[in-house]
Amino acid sequence: MFHERRINLKTPAELKIMREAGRINATVLAKVKELLQPGVTTADLNAAAEEALKSHGCVSPFKGYGHPPFPTSITVSINDEMVHGIPNSRRKLKEGDIVSIDCGTVHQGYVADSAFSAGVGRVSQEAQTLLEVTEAALYAGIAKMRKGNRAGDVSAAIQKYVESHGLHVTREYTGHGVGKDMHEGPQVPNYGMAGTGLVLKAGMTIALEPMVLVGTHETRVLPDKWTVVSADGSLTAHFEHTVAVTEGEPQILTVL
Ligand code: MG
Ligand code: MG
Repeated sequence: MFHERRINLKTPAELKIMREAGRINATVLAKVKELLQPGVTTADLNAAAEEALKSHGCVSPFKGYGHPPFPTSITVSINDEMVHGIPNSRRKLKEGDIVSIDCGTVHQGYVADSAFSAGVGRVSQEAQTLLEVTEAALYAGIAKMRKGNRAGDVSAAIQKYVESHGLHVTREYTGHGVGKDMHEGPQVPNYGMAGTGLVLKAGMTIALEPMVLVGTHETRVLPDKWTVVSADGSLTAHFEHTVAVTEGEPQILTVL
C-alpha cells in the first residue's frame, strides 16, 4: 500500500492563490509548447520555462527536489521516457518524437502542477492515438472529481478509458494531493475500483496525471535515478492538471 500523506482541505482564499499559480504554470507550459520543433534541445526548453517563471517572480518546486536533487525546473520525457526526464543540452528533439513536459509553479507558497504531451512535427498514427487517449483519460478522471464520489471512481474512470483503447496505465506512479507541498494526500492511482477509496470533499486539490504506455504497464528507472521509461521501450504519454473538488463542478486550476 502507498504511504499516505496528509490531506489539506483548501479555503476559498487558498484556492484563489492556487488558481493564480495554475494560471502562471499554464503560461509557462504554453511558452514551452511553442518551442517544440526538431533541433531544439531539452535544455533550451528548460531555459525558456525558467525565464517565464522568473518573469512572474516564481520558481519551480522540481528544482532541488528529491534524492539525488532534481537539477532543472521542468521534466522533459521523450518517446519511451514516461516521466522525470532530465533536460540536457546534447538532447535534441527530432521529427516524429512525442514529448511530455511537466512543470510546477510555486506562487505565494502554493504549488500548481501540470503536464502535457505533444508531437514534434508529424507523428505516427500509434503516437497520435496514444496522445489523444491519454489526454481524454485525464478528462474522464476529472469528470469524476465531484464531492461525495470516491477516489476509486476517478482511478477507475482513467483505467477503463485507457484500457478500452488497448493501452496500459502505470501502476507505480500516481496522482496526488497538492497545495503548500507538491505532494500531499491523497494519492490517486491511475487504476482502481469504482466505489472504493476515500470520499472526495470540497476543498481537496489533486494533481491528476494519467501516464499511459503502449506495450505493457511495466516501467524501469534509468541509471540517472530519475528518468522513468517503459520496460519494453514502447511509447508513453502523460497529461496532468491540478484540479479542485468544489461544491459543484470540478475546477481545473492549471489553465490560462
Ligand atoms: Mg507534474
Ligand atoms: Mg504531479
